Amino acid sequence: MAAPRFGLMAHQVFWNEQGSIVCACCHIPFPGSDTWVWEKWQEITPADMAIIDRKGVRVACEGCGKEPSRIVR
Ligand SMILES: [Zn+2]
Repeated sequence: MAAPRFGLMAHQVFWNEQGSIVCACCHIPFPGSDTWVWEKWQEITPADMAIIDRKGVRVACEGCGKEPSRIVR
């Protein structure tokens, strides 16, 4: 198993303005870096995930296919 990067937690999942979804173990930019800021990366919080779930949208990490809705719960 890949380890989370940058001291993040393995259950954390992030997305950016373009709708890319990447878990903490995959290729997310360094938090606070230029790429992070320009692409507007944010953590998908459990509250965000509840909203996404209600819309019936499936989200999964682009790197490993992990589904955050299963990680958060
Ligand atoms: Zn991943």
